[in-house]
Amino acid sequence: MDVSEKLFERACKVLPGGVNSPVRAFRAVGGKPRFLQKGLGSHVLDADGKEYIDFIGSWGPMILGHSHPDILAAVYERMTDGLSFGAPTALEVEMAERMVDMVPHIEMVRMVNSGTEAVMSALRLARGATGREKIIKFEGCYHGHSDAMLVGAGSGALTQGVPDSSGVTSGAARDTLIAQYNDLHSVETLLDANAGQVAAIIVEPVAANMGVVAPQEGFLAGLRALCDKHGALLIFDEVITGFRLAKGGAQEYFGVRADLVTYGKIIGGGMPVGAYAGSRALMEQVAPCGPVYQAGTLSGNPVAMAAGVTQLKILCDHPECYTVMEQSAAFLAQHLRESAAAHGIALTVNQIGSLLCPYFTDHAVTCFAHAKSADTARYARYFNSMLARGIYLAPSQFEAMFVSAAHTQNDLAFTVQAAEETLAAMAADA
Ligand SMILES: *Cc1c(COP(=O)(O)O)cnc(C)c1O
Repeated sequence: MDVSEKLFERACKVLPGGVNSPVRAFRAVGGKPRFLQKGLGSHVLDADGKEYIDFIGSWGPMILGHSHPDILAAVYERMTDGLSFGAPTALEVEMAERMVDMVPHIEMVRMVNSGTEAVMSALRLARGATGREKIIKFEGCYHGHSDAMLVGAGSGALTQGVPDSSGVTSGAARDTLIAQYNDLHSVETLLDANAGQVAAIIVEPVAANMGVVAPQEGFLAGLRALCDKHGALLIFDEVITGFRLAKGGAQEYFGVRADLVTYGKIIGGGMPVGAYAGSRALMEQVAPCGPVYQAGTLSGNPVAMAAGVTQLKILCDHPECYTVMEQSAAFLAQHLRESAAAHGIALTVNQIGSLLCPYFTDHAVTCFAHAKSADTARYARYFNSMLARGIYLAPSQFEAMFVSAAHTQNDLAFTVQAAEETLAAMAADA
């Protein structure tokens, strides 16, 4: 047994499934998870000293790569003055100012500790502000694990084939209505059938928890128009897309305004941070200004803010990194398509910005039903072969591949070569 296997054996005795978040357990791809020890730039090292090119990047936060020297320096500097006060500190003001500066249409921010918490709080605010109770979400979109959002969720829930969680009450699920991604008609039908009752539509502007599915032309603008017509709020869950698609996120990238935006992942620079944001009028409904209660002992934690604000500052100062990441992702997508075609393997590669996903299917993938038709056994074969060749991918067909600004031309060439060998081997099996 190697060190990872020994750690996993110990972990399974004291952590459910040996992990603290389900997708890490590798159940969808077989085998046992690698325990990671160290990250530097685009590479990670496991507990046995084996090195990988990392395309998970902590599921998005490490957009500048691991152990960025400026972010580490900011954290060291801040932490020597104390880890937490439960009182205001300067860095949370700087963080909010920077977010408001970078993102169009947001005027005020509330910091929380995770994406789940951000979404849960934004939904409460939407309900409080509209006096309505129902929420429309899309099948296959994941918005964290709060009760109301564990209905038709993607990601871990999807991989396990159990879209709804046990322990969620029928009451919590009843006010969540499920529409189909990229299908405005399904949204309109729900709005008409629940006239005057829908507080908000929540959407991942790019669905990145059923693989990667981009919005079709007019989809997001159509949601905006439907919200305006029906008096509902539009919530962009930008926990993945925020500061990734562009410095101003999906609102900038697609030119569509949202009423509320939720953040996580990237804004913490690797620390546990989330946030929700919107217009002054909406955000002043939140306590202590308004009647919508929401609080947090560690919210705006100074060390977490030091990491997050430094990462945002670097992204802001280097807008060219968005072009580079997009080119890197497009390069990978193009080579995957070519290798698959050369070996007669059915593969649809979706890519937008620095996100991509190879689906083992010959279908175009524009919605949840298409994503689900992908061959997960083939993905598992692909994943394990790539891992053995030193490429660390998401251990599920329904997760994105995250390209960072730290991935080098060498990393990309090495990855393309590993994929070519893997797809050739898969063609030979068949
Ligand atoms: C990861 C994710 C969340 C949940 O964030 P956590 O920090 O894991 O709670 C919410 N929404 C989207 C779109 C996500 O990808």
